[in-house]
Amino acid sequence: MEDDWPVLISALEHYSYCPRQCALIHVERIFDENVFTLRGRYAHERADEAHTTFENGVRMERALPLWSNRLRLQGRGDVVEFHPEGRVIPVEYKNGPRRERRHDDVQLCAQALCLEEMLGVSVETGAVYSLQTRRRREVRIGDELREETEEIVALVRAVQQNRGPLPPALNDKRCPQCSLLDACVPATVVAGRHARLSQQLYTLPPEH
Ligand code: SF4
Repeated sequence: MEDDWPVLISALEHYSYCPRQCALIHVERIFDENVFTLRGRYAHERADEAHTTFENGVRMERALPLWSNRLRLQGRGDVVEFHPEGRVIPVEYKNGPRRERRHDDVQLCAQALCLEEMLGVSVETGAVYSLQTRRRREVRIGDELREETEEIVALVRAVQQNRGPLPPALNDKRCPQCSLLDACVPATVVAGRHARLSQQLYTLPPEH
């Protein structure tokens, strides 16, 4: 049943970046590589093999399967750290500089929600590790982020169930970095929408 389809954690990141991108990938099954996705894939391949390591007393689980029955959510954590005093911290490996990006935070929060349900612990922070700068950015898993993430789970589920038309194209600064630029043609879509709107505005109603 479509209602029972799990939502992938990666789809939350896609939706948070651009709802249209999420629909193109997870409903239309379109996916293209570009230099950004190739760099991202390289970043993940380094964390993709499941294994356990220890560093300074911290157990690090790589490629750990994650799920939430409550949210019907599933995915995989690049790295989950288990600290000796009990803290559990999901860490996402990203290409690019260590700047704040909401879609990364949503992805981490979804991982935290899964870990809390799976392990019965409280996860208060996550981290984004930049392979470019080799530094990490701490992300607080606060109430606002939790609410936003759960809302996005519901929105992605609606997109997966293919309700309604494809979300509109953004045609903004996010598009040049999007791997779906060629498939989406946002400038053409937006220009077409504007043309249709002005046609409606300037079409006089028929005389009675
Ligand atoms: S090209 Fe722009 S509008 Fe189209 S899917 Fe990508 S980010 Fe969204």
